[in-house]
Amino acid sequence: MKRTLLAPVFALVFAVSASAQMGGMRAAPAPMEGPVAVHAARLLDVQAGRIVEDATILVQDGRIAAVNPSELPEGTHTMDLGDVTLLPGLIDAHTHLGGSTSATSFLNAVTITLADVTLAAVKNGRLTVDAGFTTVRDFGGQATVSYGRAVERGDVVGPHVVPSRSPLGITGGHCDVTGFAPGVRELDYRDGVADGVEDVLRAVRYQVKHGAQVIKVCATAGVLSMEGPVGAQQYSEEELRAIVEEAARHGLRVAAHAHGTEGIKAAVRAGVASIEHGSMLDDEAVSLMKAHGTWLVPTTHLTQRIDVGLLPEVMRRKAEEIIPYSRDSVRRAIAAGVKIALGTDAAVLPHGENAGELVDYVSLGMTPLEAIRSATVNAAELLGLDDRGVLAPGKLADVIAVAGNPLEDITVTRDIRFVMVAGRHVKHVGGGMAMPH
Ligand SMILES: [Zn+2]
Repeated sequence: MKRTLLAPVFALVFAVSASAQMGGMRAAPAPMEGPVAVHAARLLDVQAGRIVEDATILVQDGRIAAVNPSELPEGTHTMDLGDVTLLPGLIDAHTHLGGSTSATSFLNAVTITLADVTLAAVKNGRLTVDAGFTTVRDFGGQATVSYGRAVERGDVVGPHVVPSRSPLGITGGHCDVTGFAPGVRELDYRDGVADGVEDVLRAVRYQVKHGAQVIKVCATAGVLSMEGPVGAQQYSEEELRAIVEEAARHGLRVAAHAHGTEGIKAAVRAGVASIEHGSMLDDEAVSLMKAHGTWLVPTTHLTQRIDVGLLPEVMRRKAEEIIPYSRDSVRRAIAAGVKIALGTDAAVLPHGENAGELVDYVSLGMTPLEAIRSATVNAAELLGLDDRGVLAPGKLADVIAVAGNPLEDITVTRDIRFVMVAGRHVKHVGGGMAMPH
């Protein structure tokens, strides 16, 4: 009965969208049986920094079996994508898939449930993977730990997730819930709110127990919260060091949210793997980062997209204070050769607009190749994942295609024509054709 009623609706939807999004109406399409060859006019070798013309990637069991093999195995299914460039799936090292920013999002802490956040992650994860980002490092609590597991099971279509679970922060700081009366959403170490060495150790251990694959810490104040000066250091260097050491005992790295100069330096000296935002870098911070090999995850495109007028007064003032510094800091870091991995802070940036970050890096001083490396080989290195970031035999079959040549025009990364995640073909827009080999 139900099926009869729904059939015409599905038929109509498919007529509109089937060619645009294969698999869009279903959950995860199963990996194709047997080997698949993906052919395109070009492939970008991100390590060598050159375009390979007339390229074929052979995919088997979710992995890349060969690039430009001399012959294809019996029964290979060939997909000819036509006049596009193949790239490794892109990586965004700073997302919040369960979140979004609006005039009322500061109320989320007291108005929405874990289920709401998880379902938002399903929707936003789809936008992210359709934008060519096949891996994210997500700072989003329990919701994106569970979401990431669902992606790996093939239950939902989305990017691989490296989750932090709850970010660590001081009582009343950026990673606490602020702006409400006493008694409203009082958090503890289980939610990442922890003070003093003993409590931060407990907080790290609790995040690891429940699925964290990276530890996020709020080293300084932030913009989208109700607490004080945006540049203020919040964790002491002693606390930061304890967090880094405890994370390392579990084989995990630490990502430090840090805007203010002193907090950035304390986090770098404490040994964090990456500075997130890094809005107020001075020359000493830049040389400390270079000396320690600390990554910068700039999250700069959001400054072009955020509507500060929507924010409550406290947040709006902080945003207006920090934004003019932040783009200068990224320019300074690029010029000095600080290691950079792409991150967008998606949630503050609308989900699916992640490639805007690549475009901004080029306008702030990177070559297109350097920008693409920040979202592929470099981000994979920061995340400690040696199974992705390049198109090479043995790597995960996370493959995307863009229209045009991204080394000539970085903006083509906004036009994603094809996406494959671990051998699952999740998006294909127009152009080529699928045919039996
Ligand atoms: Zn963030």
